[in-house]
Amino acid sequence: MIIDGKKEAANLREEIKNEILEIKKRINKNPNLTVILIGDFTPSQIYVRNKEKNSKEVGITSNIIKYPKEVKEKEVLNKINELNNDKNISGILVQLPLPEQISKEKIINAIDPKKDVDGFNPINVGNLASGYKSIVPCTPLGCLLLIKKFEKNLSGKHAVIIGRSNLNGKPMAQLLLKENCTVTVVHSKTNNLQEECLKADILVAAVGVPNLVKKDWVKSSAIVIDVGINKVGDKIVGDVNFEEIKDNIKAITPVPGGVGPMTIACLLKNTLECFKAHQI
Ligand code: NAP
Repeated sequence: MIIDGKKEAANLREEIKNEILEIKKRINKNPNLTVILIGDFTPSQIYVRNKEKNSKEVGITSNIIKYPKEVKEKEVLNKINELNNDKNISGILVQLPLPEQISKEKIINAIDPKKDVDGFNPINVGNLASGYKSIVPCTPLGCLLLIKKFEKNLSGKHAVIIGRSNLNGKPMAQLLLKENCTVTVVHSKTNNLQEECLKADILVAAVGVPNLVKKDWVKSSAIVIDVGINKVGDKIVGDVNFEEIKDNIKAITPVPGGVGPMTIACLLKNTLECFKAHQI
């Protein structure tokens, strides 16, 4: 089966839209997402434009604050502080990557954890790792929702995650542990990658290497979630060789049209959750 991320994301956006409509009717308030965009890196501009468009479609107001790439770190930190204290703002997102004079660590730490819609602030990371309520990074959250649409009870399943980034691999591992999976995280220094992947009932690939996962790396009973977005010539491909695997697997996400649309829908979900928790 091919998991249709576009359809699932559209369903999730519809749920979010309806909930915002209902809240608006009740208290005449709606969530706000404020995005800081630094520099003129084209993919970042496209992502931010998409986030703004998707926000508006579900009833989240969205501001974009733009800075030139030479902006001083202090100026951005002052702005974050101002946004943290603004009662009308539900969520703050600083689009990554950042220019080299700006410390990613300082920026992530500066965002109020209650408005940290990316879930990158160490308070949220720690809460997730501790099994407490937290804001969860959008991509792994989207992956989990896709997996759970397909398989409700993950208890006892063996999950293998390729990649250990703060953005994807690590929070994915925490989420699947919370679901009572047995979790293996593999990375570039892992010996016998294929052998580890073959143990997976659930395989999540978040690597950035085109078509790394081959047909003989996965059991036919596995669910395969492909986070990778890789440009090969004029095509976008995932980390999993989709064509080789798709006909002999329990379920698989395509690239594009799998995890990507869920990521942005989960950003809207996180913004709504922040709004409900602190502004109503
Ligand atoms: P990242 O920070 O570069 O991390 C990649 C991870 O993969 C690292 O842990 C690395 O191991 C591991 N790795 C690299 N080459 C490997 C290999 N040959 N074998 C095994 N492991 C290997 O990347 P990321 O930010 O997590 O992103 C991963 C992919 O997801 C990229 O293609 C990115 O574009 C995509 N992405 C998609 C979405 C979406 O919405 N669909 C969102 C974010 C990212 P080490 O730790 O040992 O270096």
